[in-house]
Amino acid sequence: FPPAGPDYLQGLNEEQRLAVETTQGPLLILAGAGTGKTRVLTTRFAHILLEKLAWPEQILAVTFTNKAAREMRERISAILGRSIDSLWLGTFHSLCARMLRQHAPLVGLERNFTILDTDDQLRLLKQVIEPWKLDLKRFPPAQIMHQIQLWKDQALLPDALTPAQTSELANGQAPAIYVAYQTRLKELNACDFGDLMLHMMTILRQHPDVLEQYQQRFRYILVDEYQDTNAIQYLWLRLLAKRQDGEDSNIACVGDDDQSIYSWRGADIANILRFEKDFPGAKVIRLEQNYRSTPRILSVASQVIAHNEGRLGKVLRPGLKTEEGEPIEVINTPDSDDEARVIGRRIQELHTAGQSYGSIAILMRAGFQTRPFEDALMKMGIPYQIIGGLRFYERAEIRDAIAYMRAVLYPTDDLAFERIVNLPKRGFGKVALTRLRAAAKNMGCSLQQTLQHQLQQGELKSKLASSLTDLMNILVKIREVVSKEGHVVATDMVLEESGYLDMWRDDPKTVEAAGRLDNIRELLRALGEFPTMDAFLEHIALVMDSDNAQDDPNKVSLMTLHAAKGLEFPNVFLPGWEEGLFPSQRSLDEGGNKSLEEERRLAYVGLTRARERVVISYANNRRLYANWQDSIPSRFLDELPESHIIRNVAKAEHALGSKSFFNRQAPFPAKRTIKPSPVQATIPIGATVRHKRYGEGVVIGAEEDRLSINFENIGLKRIMAGFVEIVS
Ligand code: ATP
Ligand code: MG
Repeated sequence: FPPAGPDYLQGLNEEQRLAVETTQGPLLILAGAGTGKTRVLTTRFAHILLEKLAWPEQILAVTFTNKAAREMRERISAILGRSIDSLWLGTFHSLCARMLRQHAPLVGLERNFTILDTDDQLRLLKQVIEPWKLDLKRFPPAQIMHQIQLWKDQALLPDALTPAQTSELANGQAPAIYVAYQTRLKELNACDFGDLMLHMMTILRQHPDVLEQYQQRFRYILVDEYQDTNAIQYLWLRLLAKRQDGEDSNIACVGDDDQSIYSWRGADIANILRFEKDFPGAKVIRLEQNYRSTPRILSVASQVIAHNEGRLGKVLRPGLKTEEGEPIEVINTPDSDDEARVIGRRIQELHTAGQSYGSIAILMRAGFQTRPFEDALMKMGIPYQIIGGLRFYERAEIRDAIAYMRAVLYPTDDLAFERIVNLPKRGFGKVALTRLRAAAKNMGCSLQQTLQHQLQQGELKSKLASSLTDLMNILVKIREVVSKEGHVVATDMVLEESGYLDMWRDDPKTVEAAGRLDNIRELLRALGEFPTMDAFLEHIALVMDSDNAQDDPNKVSLMTLHAAKGLEFPNVFLPGWEEGLFPSQRSLDEGGNKSLEEERRLAYVGLTRARERVVISYANNRRLYANWQDSIPSRFLDELPESHIIRNVAKAEHALGSKSFFNRQAPFPAKRTIKPSPVQATIPIGATVRHKRYGEGVVIGAEEDRLSINFENIGLKRIMAGFVEIVS
C-alpha cells in the first residue's frame, strides 16, 4: 500500500517522513551520506508552507553553497507547483549580505557598500600595513590576512583579542593592523567577506530591537551541512533561533559528523555534538537508508571511514539499489601525466557507452591537480568545466571590466579606480599613483575627486593631463548612460571608449587576447540576466567565494573534494591517492590523528558522491611544480576491502603507441628531486632546524614537501624538507 498523505510525502521512508512532519521544537537529523538529508530539508520547507505553518518569508534556510541553494529553490517550487521569490534561502554569507544591506548604517556603512573579493582584500591590506614597515618576507600579508579572517570567523573584533591570540604574528602588530584595515574598509564603504557575518553579529548583539525583529520573523530555521559551521555561524544561528516568548525554537539542522571537512577554515564539529545541550528537548532522528550509491560503493566507503575513531556511529544501508554494482577500480599509472591520459580515455569509453559527460566528475584533493587533466581533456576534445577552481570572475579581464563599472558607479571606490587608471597605459605609473594617494589622503577625498581637482588646477603635465581628462570625462559620461540605457550598454561603452577593448584587440598574443574578448562578451551576456549593476555585483561577490554560477550537463566536472560536498554524480574519478597528496603533506606533518582523520573523511565524501561507478588512481611519479618526484601509494588504498575492488596497472604511454613518452622534455625518469625521508617529512611546525647554508631557523609552515622556515639570519625561506636537520 502506498503511504497515505499528500503526494510530496509519498516517496519518503518512515524516518524521513517523521523528520519532515516533526515541525515543532528543535530537531537534529544525523545521518550518513546520501540518506536524503538535503531532500528532507527541502521537503520540510515545502511542507511548512503547504501546511500554512508560516509564510515563505518566515522561514530561514541555510545551505552550504549557492549551487545547493539554487537546487533547493528549484525543488521547493517543483513541490509547490509555482516559484516564490523573496525566500530567505541561501548561504550564510548571502543571507547576511541581504540583512546587512538593510542595517548597514548601524555599523557605519552605507547601504550600497561594496563587497571586496579576495584579491582586493589583499591589495588593501598591503596598503594598510605600509606604515608599519614590516619585513614582508617574515610576515607575508597573505598570512596576516588569513589570521584576520580566522578572527572574523570566530566573531572576534579587535578589542576582544587576548594577548595570547596576538603575540606571534607581525611582531604583535596584527591587532593594530586589524583595526587599521577595518577603518580603511569603512572609509571605502566596503566590506570583506568575513565582515558580512561579523557586522551582522555586531548589529544583532548591540541592537536588541533588530535582533527581536528577526527572532520574531523566522518561525522556522533549516540548516544543511551543520557539521561544517564555524563559530560565528553557530553564534548567529543560536541568536536567531532564540524565541522571545520562551517557546521551543523550531530549528532543524541536518549533518553528518563523518563529512566534517572544513576544520581548517574554522569549522567546529563540536557544534553538532552540543546541539542537544543548546536546544533542550531536541529530537534526534537518524536516517539509515542510502539512496545514492550501489551497495558496493557503500561498503567501501563505510569500511574506509571505520578507521576513524570517536565517531558518533551511524548505520548506512543500501536503499533502492539491490544490484551489487560494479567493483571499484584502482588504477596505478607510471606518472601523473599518464594518470590524466588514462582517465581521459576511460571517460571517452564511458561516453561511447552512452554516459553523458555531465554524469562524470573528477574530484581531487588539491586545486593544482586540475592542470594535467585540463591538458589531457583538451587534447582529447572532451568538454570540461572547473567548478569552484579558477573561476570565471577571477580572470583579469573580467575583473578589469568590473572595476571600470565600479569606477563609474561609485566615484569613491578607490580600489576600482586604481585598477583601471593606467589600463590601457596612460602614462600614470606606480609613482604617480602613490603621489595621488598621498594627495587624496591630505585632502580627505577619493582618488577620483582628487584627480579631478588636480586637473582643474592644471597640476599635471599636459600629455598626462589630456589622457586622464579623457578618462574622467568618459566615467562621467557613462554614469549618465547607466540610468538612460541600462548597465549592459554602459559597460560595453565604457570598455570601448576607454580604449580597454582596443588594448586586447591590438595585443600581439592574439589567441589569448581573443579568449579574453570572448570572456568579456560572456560577461555582458551574464550582466543582462540581472536587473541592475548592483544586483550583478552582489551576485558575483557572493559566488566568487564558493561555487560557479552555471554548470553544464554536457561537460565533465573537475573540482576539489571540498567543493563536491553535497553533490552526486553517476561516475566519479578520484585521482592522486598518494602519500603527501592524499592524505596531504600538511596532515602528515602535523602528526597525530586529528588531521589524518579529516583527510579520511574527505575520502569518505569523495567515495559517497558516486551513484554507479568509482575509479581511484595513483601515480608512481608526480610532477610537482617543475620537478618529478617519486610517490608512495596512499595509506587509504590499503583500507579498501579487496572483495569490492579490482586493481589495474596502466602501462606507460609509449606502450600504448604514443611517442610522447620518449619525447618528454624533462629527462624522465632519470632526474628526480630528492624525496624527504619519512623521518624528515615529519618535522613539526615550531621545530628549530639547521640548514647547511642558511644556519638555524624555526619551521613556521609546511606545504607538500617544502617547509617554510624563518631563519635567524636571512628571514623566511621555503626549503625542501630533506635539506634540513632538526636541532630541537
Ligand atoms: P549528502 O550527505 O551527500 O549531502 P544527503 O543525505 O543530503 O547526502 P540527498 O542528496 O538528499 O542526501 O539524497 C541523495 C539521493 O537520494 C538524491 O538523489 C535523492 O533524490 C535520493 N533520495 C533521497 N531520499 C529518497 C527516497 N526516499 N526515495 C528515493 N530517492 C531518495
Ligand atoms: Mg546533502
